Amino acid sequence: MSKLAYFFQGNTLLLPADFPDSRIDFAVPLELAKDFRTSETFEVPAVDESKTPIRVVSVLPDTAQQAAALPENWKGIPVRQVLVTLSAKDANPARLLRACHIAQWRRESRFCGSCGGENFDIPETTERRCSRCGREEFPRICPAVIVVVTKEDKILLAHNKKFSSGLYSLIAGFNEAGESLEATVEREIFEEVNIKVGGISYIKSQAWPFSKSLMIGFKACFLSGDLRPDGVEIEDAGWFTRDNLPAVSEPGSLSRAIIDQWIKSEI
Ligand SMILES: [Zn+2]
Repeated sequence: MSKLAYFFQGNTLLLPADFPDSRIDFAVPLELAKDFRTSETFEVPAVDESKTPIRVVSVLPDTAQQAAALPENWKGIPVRQVLVTLSAKDANPARLLRACHIAQWRRESRFCGSCGGENFDIPETTERRCSRCGREEFPRICPAVIVVVTKEDKILLAHNKKFSSGLYSLIAGFNEAGESLEATVEREIFEEVNIKVGGISYIKSQAWPFSKSLMIGFKACFLSGDLRPDGVEIEDAGWFTRDNLPAVSEPGSLSRAIIDQWIKSEI
């Protein structure tokens, strides 16, 4: 039986054009890497109970073969969209997300950030080490908070400039160096919609490799202030009741999972 691997080009999962919709492992025979002129194949140690390494083929963007110009017998599906499919089938995306995250980081860690020497792999780990100065490098994970803010029976939802028209979600933002996650929650909410919150507590988290993130979900309750979008990131924000919700993000994201929990009064 042939070895299987995930194929990525950036945050797009590559599959043979005839890959059956019914299959949700998204693994492809490794030998198909021959279809791509420029690719890197590597193994990522598993951190789940399977202990089975995750094989990855990272198809490198080059001028001759961009995502839009895949070989005819291949198709690309954004990993974000794959999450929607996995969520509908209640399948665990952890291995796929790990593979996607590491593939992305490897493209950006070929050289030492200190001396510019070439990094080499330390077998059976994710570590890379500089061939010149010996500096160790590990996959970068950028923590970001995402917060459900409530006020009586209402939830705070905001429309970010980057969202498609009419779509709303929870307030989110990256943790700054030297800042606690609770402080990030307070700062982001105040910066983006001008209100103060309290009662901050952790709900759950989700790997989100599209910007090498870990999304960390919190809840908080409104304390004071007039709701006012910053006009920079947030174009509109409002308080919504359960029977008055706007369009929200698709299943498969932590944002949607938390909103769904709130709808069911579990938060
Ligand atoms: Zn170095």
